[in-house]
Amino acid sequence: MKGDIGVIGLAVMGQNLILNMNDHGFKVVAYNRTTSKVDEFLQGAAKGTNIIGAYSLQDLADKLEKPRKVMLMVRAGEVVDQFIDSLLPHLEQGDIIIDGGNSNYPDTNRRVKDLAAKGIRFIGAGVSGGEEGARFGPSIMPGGNEEAWQYVKPILQAISAKTKDGEPCCDWVGKEGAGHFVKMVHNGIEYGDMQLICEAYQFLKEGLGLSYDQLHHVFSKWNKTELDSYLIEITADILGYRDENGEPLVEKILDTAGQKGTGKWTGINALDLGIPLTLISEAVFARCVSAFKEQRVENQALFNKQIGTVTGDKAQWIEAVRKALLASKIISYAQGFMLIREASENNNWDLNYGNTALLWREGCIIRSAFLGNIRDAYETNPNLQFLGADSYFKTILENALPEWRKVVAKSIEIGLPMPCMASAITFLDGYTSARLPANLLQAQRDYFGAHTYERTDRPRGEFFHTNWTGKG
Ligand code: NAP
Repeated sequence: MKGDIGVIGLAVMGQNLILNMNDHGFKVVAYNRTTSKVDEFLQGAAKGTNIIGAYSLQDLADKLEKPRKVMLMVRAGEVVDQFIDSLLPHLEQGDIIIDGGNSNYPDTNRRVKDLAAKGIRFIGAGVSGGEEGARFGPSIMPGGNEEAWQYVKPILQAISAKTKDGEPCCDWVGKEGAGHFVKMVHNGIEYGDMQLICEAYQFLKEGLGLSYDQLHHVFSKWNKTELDSYLIEITADILGYRDENGEPLVEKILDTAGQKGTGKWTGINALDLGIPLTLISEAVFARCVSAFKEQRVENQALFNKQIGTVTGDKAQWIEAVRKALLASKIISYAQGFMLIREASENNNWDLNYGNTALLWREGCIIRSAFLGNIRDAYETNPNLQFLGADSYFKTILENALPEWRKVVAKSIEIGLPMPCMASAITFLDGYTSARLPANLLQAQRDYFGAHTYERTDRPRGEFFHTNWTGKG
């Protein structure tokens, strides 16, 4: 009996996806560049399963049912192109390649097109959920050559996470690189969610002076509110974790954050498409600032920087921070969906925004109860321009506003950085302002560059230029 699917790449993601496929009754052929890892896998984690090893790409192709389905779980970038090139001589017209790595979506656009010209059907599938997700149910965002979807759908939907209603967190996203685009925005949103939590933690710890036991308790309680999510849950665990000396381990972790680039890509795309993705971009920059550890230490001394304290009723402040976090998170998702909408319209991807929220409902790092509300919002109004205009989210934003302002203002007053919560409220203030100071900006542009302006007392589309200095 031949294999249902081949998987190339036996690092953490590949191995776990293969085991997951095996659990769901699929016969998987496993291959890796370093073929000794095939034997290690078969004799280790895959022992006693139906998984078959392959020791060359020809061997892999020979062991697969047609049309062949080959999933790449290798390092994103050139390695994917190298594998595609070396696979091609072993494949036939109609065979399917699925790239499950974190590829940049323009690469997927290109691969879908180039491979279609060669008769090979290509799917770029964003896979989220890390090792645990891959093993027991990730969120999967497939896009590309839609003809291929019918062949891989039963496998990908079977292994994906499911909502409480049993719906798979895996469905067709759209053509070209739409799947990888949506995965990229997911990763950007993850950056934003994590930074927002860090800002709340710093305010509560350094401003309000909560102990780690208290912080653990606060985040555990928050996880029973609208903030119910995987990231809040693991934060509560982390804050409660003690090292071998009985001390909070997180306090001893060096405060410099790494990044692999998907947050940066999200920000770059937002700039390219003219979407004010301020919160996610600030979250990327916050990681950049964190990486300047030595400079920060020097400059703290140079400026004799001290952080002030927050006085007043602790319980009220804690609730204010919770509301500020929730409201900021709504703005982050609202901006993320603005970006998805713009990309969908620009590329004619015809994306379903409610379904996108459903794909992230379980299985991935940003999974949360909140995503169910986003799905409901788009079901009520598929053309929703701004998530904050949905009645559920609007009520939360309005209710949170006074305390949200208080938290951000206090943070600035005492010298605590709060880039994401502050950018979120600033965005909302701008986005809800019928008049902004861009009138002056247009005047400046016209002054130095004769860029012209429109007038509020004349119809749109009529352009004026003024000789501001009166000189010829
Ligand atoms: P990885 O460390 O990104 O890649 C390791 C795999 O790539 C190995 O099979 C390795 O083969 C192969 N590889 C690396 N360089 C190669 C080269 N020059 N030529 C041929 N093969 C090469 O593995 P991963 O962490 O399991 O991730 C796989 C994909 O999933 C990546 O795109 C990653 O971004 C994405 N992803 C990862 C996570 C996660 O939590 N790790 C989550 C979501 C998505 P050898 O064994 O021969 O070196």
